[in-house]
Amino acid sequence: MKAKVDQNLCIGCGICEGDLPEVFLLGDAGVAEVIMDPVEAEYHERLKQVVLDCPTTAISIDGDEADDADADALSEPEEHFETTTDCCGDDASDAVDEEPNHTNTERKEKMKVKVVEDLCIGCGICEGIAPEVFSLETEPYAVVLLDPVPEEFHAATREAAEACPEAAIVIEE
Ligand code: SF4
Ligand code: SF4
Repeated sequence: MKAKVDQNLCIGCGICEGDLPEVFLLGDAGVAEVIMDPVEAEYHERLKQVVLDCPTTAISIDGDEADDADADALSEPEEHFETTTDCCGDDASDAVDEEPNHTNTERKEKMKVKVVEDLCIGCGICEGIAPEVFSLETEPYAVVLLDPVPEEFHAATREAAEACPEAAIVIEE
C-alpha cells in the first residue's frame, strides 16, 4: 500500500502527521509529505482513517494490490480483507451499501469510551491518535469528545486505548 499527498490540495493542517507521524511529515514547504513508502502493513488501518480525516481529501492510497499483493498474501492473510475496503475508503456511505454483513454488525454496535481521570497522566497519546475523540485542551487529563463514538472512529479509539500507557481508557461496546 502506498500513500500519496496531493500537494496542491494540502493546506498543511497537520492532521495526518498528528494521526500517523510514522507516515506523514509536514515539510518545510508547509505541506504534508509521505515518509514511508510503501506503508507497512501495521499502519494500513490508521492510514485509511487518515484519508478520511484529511479535510481537503489530499491523501490517496494506491498501488496496494499491484505492489503489495504478493508479499502481503504470504505474510498477512487478513490483508485481503483490508484491500477490499480500500476502494471505498473515500466514501463511507458506499462502504455501508456494499458490505451489508460487516456493517449490519457494526451499525448495531455502540461504542462508549471513558477516561479514568485518576489514572490519566495527560501524556496526549490518545489525542494524537484519535483527536476527534480525545482532547486535552480544557483539562490536564483527556476528555472524551464523542459519546457514543461514531463508527468511523472506532478503530482509532481502540488503538488509543491500547496505546494509553496508564490503561486509563475504558471502552464499552
Ligand atoms: S491532513 Fe490533508 S490537508 Fe492536512 S496536512 Fe495532511 S494532507 Fe495536508
Ligand atoms: S493516552 Fe492515556 S494517560 Fe495519555 S492522555 Fe490519553 S488517557 Fe491520559
